[in-house]
Amino acid sequence: NRQILLVSRPQGEVQTDNFRLVETPLAPLAAGQVRVRNHFLSVDPYMRGRMNEGKSYAPPHPLDTVMLGGTVGEVVASENAAFQVGDAVSGFDGWQEFGTSDGGSLKKVDTTAIPLSAYLGVAGMPGVTAWVGLRHIIGAKAGETVVVSAASGAVGSVVGQLAKQSGCRVVGIAGGPEKCRLVTETFGFDACVDYKAGQLEADLAAATPDGIDGYFENVGGVVLDAVLERMNAFGRIAVCGMIAGYDGQPMPLKRPSLILTARLKVQGFIVSEHLDLWPRALEEITGLLAAKRLHYRESVAQGLEKAPEALIGLLKGRNLGKQVVKLI
Ligand code: NDP
Repeated sequence: NRQILLVSRPQGEVQTDNFRLVETPLAPLAAGQVRVRNHFLSVDPYMRGRMNEGKSYAPPHPLDTVMLGGTVGEVVASENAAFQVGDAVSGFDGWQEFGTSDGGSLKKVDTTAIPLSAYLGVAGMPGVTAWVGLRHIIGAKAGETVVVSAASGAVGSVVGQLAKQSGCRVVGIAGGPEKCRLVTETFGFDACVDYKAGQLEADLAAATPDGIDGYFENVGGVVLDAVLERMNAFGRIAVCGMIAGYDGQPMPLKRPSLILTARLKVQGFIVSEHLDLWPRALEEITGLLAAKRLHYRESVAQGLEKAPEALIGLLKGRNLGKQVVKLI
């Protein structure tokens, strides 16, 4: 079983030598166990936080153990009556070819209409994250203007499409013309602002003539400063991520007093703490997917050994849509 271990903690940016590839023999299954051959690994921004020492909403990932993460694959052996060989499942096996568990964290998935890899993205944790932030925290209503940063990504692309379904004006913020084209042409946003083009404030003002009622925050830093200037009175901000600061960059707010003067509601959230909302979220998302009214894009890295580079690339914005690693 080839595995990637986390062997050291990054100082600033993640480096490939924070990881090591090892090969470990597979033990025979014990009673109650299930073995899954993983087909795809998930690569997600939250992994950067788990690589650090110190306090956050979740404990640091222990060194010299398999790097954590979501997985999808096929059951190849089972001593557990709940799983049969050939079942397609999603799980949390981390960066390794085979996962062996008691099946507690495995979930059978239906791949007749939705491809296996999509359960790591639009039909999985990132899709539910988009739903929780938009529907539960922002509560976007028809006619309102909703803005989302990291708009071309796994979470952002779903936020915008769900907000369109609700009749909102939807504006994305993304890095570069290729991503902005994807956001408007494929995902159907009304506009997309390229924050790397050098005139973020002016471009955002032009794209939000009626101000901003709901903001889905994935980034922080200068993007948040620009959005705060455009927020309407009683606007809502769902703070989902602040990726611009994940390597430890300081992110001072330029005008925090805008939260008061615009009477904003600002709420952070962690999707795994809203388990009660997952069924409703997935029902809407899978329904839209089946009706081909929800679109997604994937960046696929080939081979287990590419996982560290895929994470480094994701944190630098090199991915276009949900980043996954294909094992077979
Ligand atoms: P994405 O697919 O959006 O990939 C990350 C993107 O972040 C990059 O492509 C890049 O896009 C953008 N980015 C990276 N660095 C910067 C920077 N310095 N400034 C601005 N943008 C940057 O990832 P996800 O959709 O999986 O995640 C999006 C956000 O949601 C993350 O912040 C993540 O931590 C958060 N999240 C939170 C959850 C929760 O429970 N709260 C659950 C899941 C995700 P670009 O090129 O456009 O800059």
